[in-house]
Amino acid sequence: MASVEIFGKEAELYSNLPNGRIRCTACARKCEIPEGRIGLCGIRGVNNNKLWLYVYGKVIAGHIDPIEKKPVVHYMPGSSIYSIATTGCNWLCKYCQNYDISQRRKIEGSEMTPSEVVEKAQFYGAQGIAYTYNEPSIFMEFAKDCGIEAHKKGIFNIFVSNGYDTPESVNMMSKFLDCITVDFKGSGNQEFVRRYIGIPSSDPIFSTLKEIKSKTKIHVEITDLIVPQVGDNLDSARQLCRFVYDELGPDTPIHFLRFHPDYKMMEFDSTPVLTLEKHCEIAKQIGLKYIYIGNVPGHKLENTYCPECGHLVIQRYGFNIEGWNLDERNCCKQCGYCIPIVGSLQKKTKRRFQFME
Ligand code: SF4
Ligand SMILES: [Zn+2]
Repeated sequence: MASVEIFGKEAELYSNLPNGRIRCTACARKCEIPEGRIGLCGIRGVNNNKLWLYVYGKVIAGHIDPIEKKPVVHYMPGSSIYSIATTGCNWLCKYCQNYDISQRRKIEGSEMTPSEVVEKAQFYGAQGIAYTYNEPSIFMEFAKDCGIEAHKKGIFNIFVSNGYDTPESVNMMSKFLDCITVDFKGSGNQEFVRRYIGIPSSDPIFSTLKEIKSKTKIHVEITDLIVPQVGDNLDSARQLCRFVYDELGPDTPIHFLRFHPDYKMMEFDSTPVLTLEKHCEIAKQIGLKYIYIGNVPGHKLENTYCPECGHLVIQRYGFNIEGWNLDERNCCKQCGYCIPIVGSLQKKTKRRFQFME
C-alpha cells in the first residue's frame, strides 16, 4: 500500500472501523485501509477519514465491441457495446490479457463524466455499455452513475466481472445493471485461484451469484476460462456445472473459453479443443441446456441448438451471427420451443471500432 494524492470522488461502499481504519466493501477482499493508504486494487484509498474512488471519471480504455465478445449470447443478441475500463484490479491473474490496464497501479485515463460516457456510447450507435477489461466492482460508484445516465437514454448496462463481490456491491449493481457475465477461471478450483489469481478462495464468487439470483433481476451468463494442465480439472468443472444447474437454473448459458498464453504464463500452450469439449460434455450430463465454447472460431459449439428438437437455431462464427432460425418470440421455428433470450436480434447495429487512452 502506498500514499496517494486526493482526486476522484468519495466512495459509497465502505464503513469506518473503531480502530480508525476504513473497511472497503466494494469487493470480497474487504481491505482494511489506514489513513493515507490505498487498497490492493490500487484505486480506492483513504484520505481525511473517508474512502475515495480515485479513478472516478478516469477512463483508460473505450472500445466498441459486439456483445458476443463479452461473451454474452442470450441478451440483446447482435448489439454493439461501448466498453470502458479504469486502471486497477482486485485480482492478480498471471495470464491476464489486459494486464497493462488491470495491473497498472496508477490513476490514469481520459477525463469523462458519466454523461460523456453515455454520449460517447450514443455517438457510436451502441445499444449497451459494458464495464469490462478490469474488474468493474472496484469502480462501482462510477459505473453506477454512468449506468443510471445510460438508462435515461435507453441504453443497457453489462458487467464483465470476476464475481468476487459482496452483498453491498450486489445491492448497488441492482440499481443499474441489466446483465452480468461472471468469469470463472479454472472452474473456481481452489488451488488454481490461490496460485494463479492471488485470492484466498473462490467461495465469494458462488455467494455473489446466489445473491444476484435471489435479490436482483440481472441476466446472468457464466464463463469458465480453462487453462491447460493447471486449470482444467474436470471434477471442479463438474462442481461448477452442478452449482449453475442447482442455483442458477439449467437455462443459464455457460461458456468454456480457450486460454491463450499471455503476461506471466507464456510457457503454457493454448487449451486443446478436446479439453474444452470434455468440459462441455460434463455440462451436458448435468443438464445445462446452453453450452458454448469460446475463442475457437468455427467450432459447432459457438452455435445455439434447440434443447427440444436439436435444430440449429442461431449460427455464429466468432462474434458474428451468421444465421437466425427463431421466430419473433425467440422460439424455434422447427418445434416452437422458446429459447430464453432477452430481446430480439439487433439488426441495425453499427459496429465501428475505436481505441483511446
Ligand atoms: S475494491 Fe479494492 S480497496 Fe476495495 S476491497 Fe477490493 S481490492 Fe480492496
Ligand atoms: Zn426446436
